[in-house]
Amino acid sequence: MGELAIEQPGFQHFDVENRQHAFYEERPTDNEYAVLRQMNGEMMPVEETKDDASATELLERGYLQYGCPHYHRRCRIRAPCCNEIFDCRHCHNDAKNNINVNQKQRHELPRHQVQQVVCSLCGTEQEVRQVCINCGVCMGKYFCGTCKLFDDDTSKNQYHCNGCGICRIGGRENFFHCYKCGCCYSVLLKNSHPCVERAMHHDCPVCFEFLFDSRNDVTVLPCGHTIHKNCLKEMREHHQFACPICSKSVCDMSKVWEKFDVEIAATPMPEPYQNKMVWILCNDCGKTSQVQFHVVAQKCAHCKSYNTRQTRG
Ligand SMILES: [Zn+2]
Ligand SMILES: [Zn+2]
Ligand SMILES: [Zn+2]
Ligand SMILES: [Zn+2]
Ligand SMILES: [Zn+2]
Ligand SMILES: [Zn+2]
Ligand SMILES: [Zn+2]
Ligand SMILES: [Zn+2]
Repeated sequence: MGELAIEQPGFQHFDVENRQHAFYEERPTDNEYAVLRQMNGEMMPVEETKDDASATELLERGYLQYGCPHYHRRCRIRAPCCNEIFDCRHCHNDAKNNINVNQKQRHELPRHQVQQVVCSLCGTEQEVRQVCINCGVCMGKYFCGTCKLFDDDTSKNQYHCNGCGICRIGGRENFFHCYKCGCCYSVLLKNSHPCVERAMHHDCPVCFEFLFDSRNDVTVLPCGHTIHKNCLKEMREHHQFACPICSKSVCDMSKVWEKFDVEIAATPMPEPYQNKMVWILCNDCGKTSQVQFHVVAQKCAHCKSYNTRQTRG
């Protein structure tokens, strides 16, 4: 089958937040604040005073030198659930939510409930804040006080979505929160996606991972249902082109249907079947029609789709 360019631009999922300094539970000092804003490129660097220079130095110590496979960050977190210290919530979940852990004890870290962090430079345990209360280092250039998220790698363009209640990546300007779907979608979908109530609040129909806060890219099908980008790719590689939830075509199939037309025209049914009529229900437009039976497929009389099923002989 030919190349079926379809997929609407998806939205990426991860778990980070934005630069709303208003979230600070404990505000940095004015000096730290000015330096942070400069570091984040929000202010043209003004003439640096000596104090600014040393404050910057202090904040930037160890930048990109600490962290785990999931984040560059300069602190670890105390898990509120099991009271142990982990590099990040994913490290916690990897350790505490796998099949080797007794099923009763398996759990995920409730990210919003983290209260204490441990500075990676000086080891001081303290309440969640961006700048270490003891040594003055910035523990994460991207910091979300709501999600308790720290990340020194700001190239992900993290932002916190109040609608989602979590941090996402990809840049606030590239996404909008759809309150009907209950999720952030690419602005390219703003006027073109069919809304499905809480579209993301279910498991991927292929791999069964919960989609809302999945770290893998998720895409919206033309029917409005959602699925991992990679799972959709796999489906298509296996020549499955129908949404696993509602059976509508997952992409523009008109080129494929044209090939069906040709194939069917080239293979007339043998004599006894030539006048056999059947009723079909179209998975794409939802209408029924009575059409001539063919062993290859039945074409919807309304929308020309071959994505149909026979309802009665
Ligand atoms: Zn980690
Ligand atoms: Zn410290
Ligand atoms: Zn957040
Ligand atoms: Zn959102
Ligand atoms: Zn929507
Ligand atoms: Zn999946
Ligand atoms: Zn669907
Ligand atoms: Zn149809």
